[in-house]
Amino acid sequence: MRQRSLLVPTLRDVPADADIVSHQLMLRAGMIRQIAAGVYSYLPLAKRVLHKVESIVREEMDEAGAQELTMPTMHPAELWQETGRWDKMGGELMRLKDRHQRDFALGPTHEEVITSILRDSINSYKKLPVNLYQIQTKFRDERRPRFGLLRGREFIMKDAYSFHATPESLDEAYKEMYDAYSRIFTRVGLTFRPVIADSGAIGGKDTHEFMALADVGEDTIAYSDESDYAANIEMAAVNVQYEKQNVELVECTKVDTGSAKTIEEVSNALNVAKDQIIKTLLVKIDEDWTLVLLRGDHELNDIKLKHELSVTSIRFAEAHEVEEVLSAPVGNIGPVGVEGLKVIADHAVSAIINGISGANEADQHFTGVNVDRDFKVDQYADLRFIQEGDASPDGKGTIRFAQGIEVGQVFKLGTVYSEAMNATILDENGKTQPLIMGCYGVGVSRTVAAIIEQHHDENGIVWPVSVAPYDLHLLTLNSKNAEQSELSEELYTQLKQAGFDVLYDDRPERAGVKFKDSDLIGLPIRVSVGKRAAEGMVEVKIRKTGEVIEVAVADLIDTIR
Ligand code: ATP
Ligand code: MG
Ligand code: MG
Ligand code: MG
Repeated sequence: MRQRSLLVPTLRDVPADADIVSHQLMLRAGMIRQIAAGVYSYLPLAKRVLHKVESIVREEMDEAGAQELTMPTMHPAELWQETGRWDKMGGELMRLKDRHQRDFALGPTHEEVITSILRDSINSYKKLPVNLYQIQTKFRDERRPRFGLLRGREFIMKDAYSFHATPESLDEAYKEMYDAYSRIFTRVGLTFRPVIADSGAIGGKDTHEFMALADVGEDTIAYSDESDYAANIEMAAVNVQYEKQNVELVECTKVDTGSAKTIEEVSNALNVAKDQIIKTLLVKIDEDWTLVLLRGDHELNDIKLKHELSVTSIRFAEAHEVEEVLSAPVGNIGPVGVEGLKVIADHAVSAIINGISGANEADQHFTGVNVDRDFKVDQYADLRFIQEGDASPDGKGTIRFAQGIEVGQVFKLGTVYSEAMNATILDENGKTQPLIMGCYGVGVSRTVAAIIEQHHDENGIVWPVSVAPYDLHLLTLNSKNAEQSELSEELYTQLKQAGFDVLYDDRPERAGVKFKDSDLIGLPIRVSVGKRAAEGMVEVKIRKTGEVIEVAVADLIDTIR
């Protein structure tokens, strides 16, 4: 490709609104342009990288026996109402109406659509298992679209869904997808860790997230170098052994804590040990985090059992900042980071103690709420989150933390969707049973940004060979010089014939500009045709190592192959 006619609008300066390297470099290297918050065009260079990542994903999916299909982007509301997610998805679901005022959503994920297809087309165990995937644009009206392609509102995902007659068959597919994901992320050049993850709101059982390690990652993972243990910290908290103890029941509304604002101060005011006053738990109720105060006689690590627990729940209206929580009426708390939750929880405890928690009726709020009767505890986390330096839950070694970018997730869904949507088959004994399901997502556009987070230097992107937009960059340093431009033209033809994807910088620009752009774009190999063209010599530079060698034209292809 001749760079003269390629749309690569490179920028010299770092765009002001881009905080992280991948976002800055993709803008500067002329790969993406934003048209609305979290909505980007992929310009030709980005498109080529996406294409390479998608090809790797396709190869590995096909190899694992999955079949490609394309489902609609536009989904009728009725489908989402069947599973209750029309309401549950809240603001994240992009909604629209057609000319007849019928409700539709732009697909953020496709469990409902695929389950409706399978419900209509498969009715016997004999046709199972099947695994279907697509690579497609997804829409999520993220609360905070940011970091360029890392968190868009419109982004590319590979989503796969497997269907089974038995749990064992699901286990097999899960393992195959897990292994395929490990190969995909290895092939695209990422350093990553699969971690145990939170099955949270969707329900279901086993799930792993694939985390590309990077400081800008929004997730914290806890892992141990001495073992295979690795978990999203949200999950790691669950694995902490709670101390078995009886928690003294204290009626918050009836104690006079004076001016106490923290648990410490209350414990002093009441003259009781801190941990006897109250245990705070953060539970996820549907999508929302809720602070629960747990009192009474419980073994806290048994909370998942269906014991009747005496708890107090406080739900905050759309509050993200501590200040907002403190002044919030009863409602839901939106998704916030773990650190944010800890801060909010601390402050919320003092808020309750001070009686400004937004209880809707005095003396009603703090008593008589029961788990499973009044709400379901899907997931919980103690305020005692796992810490760096803790012993690993598997007993092997010490916990360390790292930041990760969630580039993929595999999920054993079980029968949540098939039950809600009445998607059944006849099993071997002629009995009706719901389809057993797994789902598997790769953030394709997010993966491209994650690759850049891991592969760059101060001059620009350093593409891994497997996903580089072109194999090599051919530069004519002085296009007005006849010898240089003739030799460049010859090499362009020869290199293409030898099977290389060549980006040929034939622009009438100064050498300095070409070098800068070339480093920014970051192709693995640069071949510069300069002053020694007359002697048949060119310069080869390896982008990754910075190694530079002079090569005779006759040896060029052998050298770079
Ligand atoms: P996150 O926790 O980052 O919000 P998620 O868990 O909501 O992601 P999934 O529903 O598991 O995302 O979707 C599968 C994959 O799609 C994710 O692992 C991620 O790589 C990608 N993805 C999700 N949301 C976005 C987004 N807003 N922009 C880009 N990629 C995304
Ligand atoms: Mg999300
Ligand atoms: Mg996630
Ligand atoms: Mg996920």
